[in-house]
Amino acid sequence: MTHASPPPSRPLLRIDAVEATYQQSIVALHGIHLTVQPGEIHALLGANGAGKSTTLKAVSNLLPAERGHVTAGQIVFDGHDVARTRPADLVRRGLVQVLEGRHCFRSLTLEENLRTGGLGRSATRAEIAQDLDRVYAIFPRLAAQRRTLAGLSSGGEQQMAAIGRALMSRPRLLVLDEPSMGLAPLVVRDIFEQLQRLNRETGLSILVAEQNSTVALHYAHRATVLEAGASVLTDETATLRQRSDIQSIYFGQGVDAPSPSAGPALASAGA
Ligand code: ATP
Repeated sequence: MTHASPPPSRPLLRIDAVEATYQQSIVALHGIHLTVQPGEIHALLGANGAGKSTTLKAVSNLLPAERGHVTAGQIVFDGHDVARTRPADLVRRGLVQVLEGRHCFRSLTLEENLRTGGLGRSATRAEIAQDLDRVYAIFPRLAAQRRTLAGLSSGGEQQMAAIGRALMSRPRLLVLDEPSMGLAPLVVRDIFEQLQRLNRETGLSILVAEQNSTVALHYAHRATVLEAGASVLTDETATLRQRSDIQSIYFGQGVDAPSPSAGPALASAGA
């Protein structure tokens, strides 16, 4: 008797043959394919200018704000055609993005920044207090610095606040654009470990674009590599970590799979 394998679950996010341009002439994407399964951490890798940020902006339907457009293909989040869904509605449906560069309100305290993440979903005071506690449990540094102005806090605290604010919207798919950028290796490790914990304990799905492929390949389940605006490879990170050609071909660096402690490898990851 043969056992039928369980049917594959419907992807939470599907990017199918997407092409995109800026200002109707600058072709940024010309063939992106990617799926994020429920409960998956999926890394989007690629060198400078490969199209990672453009892909993520397309996922949140944010390209029109930059005079960009998806010109072909389709992006579907949880059954909804992203191109026909306003960015704010995508957030309400659980697709929440932390843009590149942290984007905190500098003149607000860290806690006030977090509270702005709860505004869009008409939450009660009690729910907001509960969500704040949850974020503080994930990033205790934010609790300790809650009254510090974001503009006076460290880069790591600002990144944690930006992620915490996104978590206040109760995402099902958290999209992160280069969370490691400009941060010290230990802070990068702290942030990725908390993201991994959230994924494990709550099933939060995560799509994370990273130039820091060493870190991303360590924490993600699968990865898709972009090259010059097209996806050229998708695989399990366990497999990709074994392929010594991957990083030298696509990122111009040697492959060093990080140890579970990730210390030395992270130190070489350009954070
Ligand atoms: P990086 O890590 O440097 O942000 P990336 O992989 O995120 O790189 P994108 O920022 O998506 O790459 O850029 C893809 C291409 O689109 C590049 O050629 C870039 O110059 C171009 N591009 C990005 N944003 C714009 C814009 N607002 N207007 C015009 N062209 C843009």
